[in-house]
Amino acid sequence: MKFYILTLFPEMVMQGLSTSIIGKAAKKGILTIEAVNIRDYTRDKHLKVDDYPYGGGAGMVMQAQPIFDAYQAIRDKIGHKPRTIYLTPQGPLFHQAMAKEMAGEEELVLLCGHYEGVDERVLEEIVTDYVSVGDYVLTGGELPAMVMVDAISRMVPGVLTNQESGETESLEGGLLEYPQYSRPREWMGREVPEVLMSGDHVKIQAWRREQSILRTKKHRPDLLKSADLTIKEKAFYRVNE
Ligand code: SAM
Repeated sequence: MKFYILTLFPEMVMQGLSTSIIGKAAKKGILTIEAVNIRDYTRDKHLKVDDYPYGGGAGMVMQAQPIFDAYQAIRDKIGHKPRTIYLTPQGPLFHQAMAKEMAGEEELVLLCGHYEGVDERVLEEIVTDYVSVGDYVLTGGELPAMVMVDAISRMVPGVLTNQESGETESLEGGLLEYPQYSRPREWMGREVPEVLMSGDHVKIQAWRREQSILRTKKHRPDLLKSADLTIKEKAFYRVNE
């Protein structure tokens, strides 16, 4: 899968994405992450990429021309119109199912705004999806783009060495993950739950399922109503009450 990140701060994005699991997947060639510097495409002789907003108001607005030309260069390179996401607090909230769905794309273009945002006309011209990473306002779209690349990449086959860990963790099936423990067996007087030492995989599965449901009920009751639960589980854990 290929990510093209349109940004004024390519070094920020590349530094953040070149380490750990995502960096390794890129080195192996499973992912390609390219930060495209919007400033390289400005036709302004002073390399300007922003200007004052028409109608007045605070801050600067990123101009349409450099963004469109940077996008156009990607489009020419790949030979078709790519799915193009504008990171914005005005979009629907990013979530795990969205990450999974987007992992099926051959390539994604992520447009990072800065300052007061981006000239609306270029958004209308190139953007296919608007996505927010949360109900708060950041200074730029770079951190949201990094969040999206990370979450989507984990869903690309071969990126996680143990594919199972992507399938059983939080938010799969609408539930949070069960608690995890590692060595030692006792730490500061706290014991690892006995069942995890039993070697009985059926019992362990049942315990983990129960913990997932209880945890979701406690920390994210909003998720539980649309989680994949059996009728019996819904009744037992009083989900609809
Ligand atoms: N004036 C804009 C508004 O009110 O919608 C906010 C501009 S914000 C200061 C600058 C840039 O940061 C945005 O263009 C967007 O790319 C990015 N950004 C800020 N918060 C974001 C969020 N919650 N999710 C995704 N992108 C965000």
